[in-house]
Amino acid sequence: MSEAFIVSARKYRPQRFDEVVGQEATTQTLKNAIRNKQLAHSFLFTGSRGIGKTTIARIFAKTINCKELQADGEACNQCDACLSFNRNASFNIIELDAASKNSVDDIRDLIEQVQYAPQNAEYKVFIIDEVHMLSPSAFNAFLKTLEEPPSYAKFILATTEKHKILPTILSRCQIYDFKRISIEDIQKHLKKIADKESIEADDNSLNLIAQKADGGLRDALSMFDRLVSMNGQKLEYTTVVKSLNILDHVVYFQFIEQIVNEKSDGVLLQLNEVLSNGFDLEVFLSGLAEHIRHLWVAKKETTLSLLEFNAEVKSQFVAQSKELDEAYMLNLLQIISECEVQMKTTRNRRLAVELALLKMCYTKKLMQTSWTELGEKKKI
Ligand SMILES: [Zn+2]
Repeated sequence: MSEAFIVSARKYRPQRFDEVVGQEATTQTLKNAIRNKQLAHSFLFTGSRGIGKTTIARIFAKTINCKELQADGEACNQCDACLSFNRNASFNIIELDAASKNSVDDIRDLIEQVQYAPQNAEYKVFIIDEVHMLSPSAFNAFLKTLEEPPSYAKFILATTEKHKILPTILSRCQIYDFKRISIEDIQKHLKKIADKESIEADDNSLNLIAQKADGGLRDALSMFDRLVSMNGQKLEYTTVVKSLNILDHVVYFQFIEQIVNEKSDGVLLQLNEVLSNGFDLEVFLSGLAEHIRHLWVAKKETTLSLLEFNAEVKSQFVAQSKELDEAYMLNLLQIISECEVQMKTTRNRRLAVELALLKMCYTKKLMQTSWTELGEKKKI
């Protein structure tokens, strides 16, 4: 494996708005604003981690200073301003990571930089990452600058926790809510990188990485890197499942199959196998709940689109969902959530999970009995 490959997040960092994965609405609005020269003074980028906030902030800073702005609102990536941005050598972009630097002194250093006009460019861009971590006094010191900035200064504040931002700051910013990136988009992006790096990786493996990343592209890329450095140029599904410590769908399909067929011995044996493979009880339970949620969604044509899997796995969910009606699924979920509560207090957590599985095996019978009882009562 080539050493240069190690950090694909950095190597494949987008240079143009168009290359950003999964944030089309935001990039389109920003491009329009740049083309029409209708730029706000301050922006707030919000959304979970690793979904492109700083990346887009940097592209924005470069693009508004590009000397050969393209008709579509993209930077040329060729003029001296663009090139110095791409080399991280521009003096017209200043970044502060408030997660590590959040004191009044840190923000004063930044405010001082605001006084100096940009060098050989129209704008100077200040990016404050994790802005919610600024101390209250740092926030206050910053507020004045934000209220009356010089015309060349642009502020981009990024945060994962919008609710922690003071209303006085919010009201001064144009707000962009970044979307969680879809599993399909992440998977496609990984595929592109795999092809470029001549790495063999099947769709199921990439889908699994994308799922585990839960909407964060950066996490997906670092997982991908780790897997490649562990397993070489070929990623195989079974090794990916193992390395990522994921309980595969296959396992849950089997569990549900046994529950539906009331095979109480089977579920206990299978649980034992799961635990001896090193998975813990919480991971197992929450995975089982998620599996039932997927079945629920797969049951109706209208909600099927919420299921983010490839066609093959989707059809497996659709097939299994036919074996369970909604009341039954609700009962199973109820048992899981009761068990999760119980696990916080009980000493024998394994027994709690085993009991829950046994209850699930007898749920059908219990439901039938209660319906019969209800019928009897009605008769009376
Ligand atoms: Zn340029």
